[in-house]
Amino acid sequence: MGAPAAFTATTDIGHWIGGQPARGSSTRSQAVYNPATGAVARQVLLASEGDVAAAVAAAGAAQPAWGEMPPIRRARVLNNFLALLNQHKDTLAAMITAEHGKVFTDAQGEVSRGIDIVEFACGVPQLLKGDYTDQVSTGIDNWTLRQPLGVVAGITPFNFPCMVPMWMFPVALACGNAFILKPSERDPSPSLFMAELLQQAGLPDGVFNVVQGDKVAVDALLSHPDVKALSFVGSTPIARYIYETGAHHGKRVQALGGAKNHMVVMPDADVDQAVDALIGAGYGSAGERCMAISVAVLVGDVADRIVPRLAERARALKVKNPMELDAEMGPIVTQQARDRIEGYIALGVEEGAQLVVDGRGLKVPGLEGGFFTGGTLFDHVQPSMRIYQEEIFGPVLACVRVPDFAAAVQLVNDHEYGNGVACFTSDGGVAREFARRVQVGMVGINVPIPVPMAWHGFGGWKRSLFGDMHAYGEEGVRFYTRQKSVMQRWPDSIGKGAEFIMPTAR
Ligand code: NAD
Repeated sequence: MGAPAAFTATTDIGHWIGGQPARGSSTRSQAVYNPATGAVARQVLLASEGDVAAAVAAAGAAQPAWGEMPPIRRARVLNNFLALLNQHKDTLAAMITAEHGKVFTDAQGEVSRGIDIVEFACGVPQLLKGDYTDQVSTGIDNWTLRQPLGVVAGITPFNFPCMVPMWMFPVALACGNAFILKPSERDPSPSLFMAELLQQAGLPDGVFNVVQGDKVAVDALLSHPDVKALSFVGSTPIARYIYETGAHHGKRVQALGGAKNHMVVMPDADVDQAVDALIGAGYGSAGERCMAISVAVLVGDVADRIVPRLAERARALKVKNPMELDAEMGPIVTQQARDRIEGYIALGVEEGAQLVVDGRGLKVPGLEGGFFTGGTLFDHVQPSMRIYQEEIFGPVLACVRVPDFAAAVQLVNDHEYGNGVACFTSDGGVAREFARRVQVGMVGINVPIPVPMAWHGFGGWKRSLFGDMHAYGEEGVRFYTRQKSVMQRWPDSIGKGAEFIMPTAR
């Protein structure tokens, strides 16, 4: 395969309301960068409260007919969308790379994992099948069905501009809701392309809307009485704010937050596999993944065998133009984020951790203005250090040495985040014990990034998730529908006279 075509649009990025592009009424906008060059690529318009109200009105007008449509017909629209996504996968991947900076091959993977959810949502007639009990009492039947909520919204982070929205809207739409997406203002282009593809797939206008924006748009969605549910993915402080504010306004909320994911390496682990896993999961997507491994927990004598090899590999990472097919790491999303990451590296040195590989100040020839930083490796990191406690969200791997399995599990369980975790071992008993005892929502056994498949659902524990239900899978279907129970009898089975006691089965 030759080099893929880069995405180079320069026009302003606006909203998508009622089935067409819209500039809205706001005069505010923000720069969208190409992180590989450091240049401003486009401007994104930032919605006003009125723009959000227009999107909610369009969604509210379109939802009743969409919700009434038989699920199999809704699934057919999603099937058409699936075909279009497969056809335009590389266009979407190039858009992601242009604004996020992750390498093109990783962006292709992101689109594929989003497509998985669309495939899952195509099975919605089966997923919405209710329960039925014949004869709960003589002549009486009882059944449950699940109905859409109405207008629902999703607020998404910069690090998966395609996949994370697709954790939400395919399931929400399949269940009969209308959807408003508020993407990240840092990489907003894929959202509009997905809106166009949904329209081409036959989705009625108004059922899917996009409002670009910042806190103004988010707050308008949080307080709008016609928005019935909010799905959020992003950092923990904002997740908590969305959860509390949404609940205050009487909405159903699922808010997925930040992470600090550990990978425990037991002394009996296959060292080659563990090193490969730590390098890929620590530095892939420049560590800007909520499931990235940022802490290697090295048990017993394995540390001395692993750290030198990690150092060698971290120094050799191919950090380059992310459109090049052999690139392993691209730039960081913004200069501000790069500065934050490099600030944490300086802090780690101050705190007394051993800086084994220093990625700061890396320059890529020909892309000197890009927001690059290299892979960084720390050893002898202590749990009391801020570089251990806080989410750095960059290519910085911290090694913590512990004496035994019990100390490793304790360390993970004491951390405030609980998104993902992995254990590398060749002992089945240890693996089983780890999976059962660890206080984390998603666990990998010899799998470094255990992002659950489309039909299993995604969600962390502790401060990595606020709310009761995970994203997508059957939990997603439950989140985007409400259960109704119907009990029925017909006149010839109705007894005579009023009943004053609690009815029981007869
Ligand atoms: P972020 O919290 O800054 O932004 C997420 C969304 O919230 C964006 O749409 C943004 O516009 C909006 N937002 C930002 N500040 C706001 C405010 N003050 N009020 C209202 N809305 C606001 O997150 P990010 O930097 O885009 O993404 C990275 C973070 O997301 C990391 O913490 C990462 O761990 C987390 N993340 C978590 C998961 C998960 O599944 N748990 C997945 C991906 C990313």
